[in-house]
Amino acid sequence: MAARKAMVAGNWKMNGSLELVEKLSDAINNAEFSEVKIVLFPPFPLIPAMIASGVNTGAQTVSEHTSGAFTGEVDAELIKQLGANYVLVGHSERRSVYKESNDVVAAKFARAQQAGLTPILCVGESETERENGQTEQVVAAQIDAVINKLGVAALEDSVIAYEPVWAIGTGKTASPEQAQTVHKFIRDKIASLEGNLAQGLTILYGGSVNEKNSELLFAQTDIDGGLIGGASLKAESFAAICNSAKGTV
Ligand code: PEP
Repeated sequence: MAARKAMVAGNWKMNGSLELVEKLSDAINNAEFSEVKIVLFPPFPLIPAMIASGVNTGAQTVSEHTSGAFTGEVDAELIKQLGANYVLVGHSERRSVYKESNDVVAAKFARAQQAGLTPILCVGESETERENGQTEQVVAAQIDAVINKLGVAALEDSVIAYEPVWAIGTGKTASPEQAQTVHKFIRDKIASLEGNLAQGLTILYGGSVNEKNSELLFAQTDIDGGLIGGASLKAESFAAICNSAKGTV
């Protein structure tokens, strides 16, 4: 069984600058975070600078295609060639704003792995789906799209991020108990197919995580760290969140 390691990922969305790359990388490089895997996801043009700063870097999205007439899209191979190692797939903003279906997300996941990138598969329910008691059904369908396309073994070289849509950018965080319940559901679901893989799988929580709530969230048995949006744009907050992940896995 692969040992899990705490992980904190920062999704800058369409924010950031070269100055911010310097600030954030200084904060990370000047602290001791060897126990925690830290990865930042800046917009595409900032990827080379982030890599040059020595911080693990990923892309926020990737094309499911390899090449061709897809204006504005970026192939996984190019991202890998730059030296990035991760890519987010299925972020709720991609699903809702750009109408990416479970099948498209699964195709992006496949293309990322084919090029040697580790996909972080983002899953999560909307507020209405939670109110209707559909959380597990929605999350299961999002994960099954990948399993049905590639087999459960594909999850071995991936990370799952549970991000309830109602908690993203809203200041409404899931309680540690609410988040743990869904994380356990995800791990148990995968364990029913492949026990060792499920035990080794990193499952992150995302949705309004900040330096005040991260410690309790990360202390939950099945929460291995966080995917951080807004707070990853502030060097002090992000460093404090990374610090709170130490010793939690
Ligand atoms: C995100 O963008 O994945 C996210 C979790 O954002 P925030 O932390 O701002 O809610």
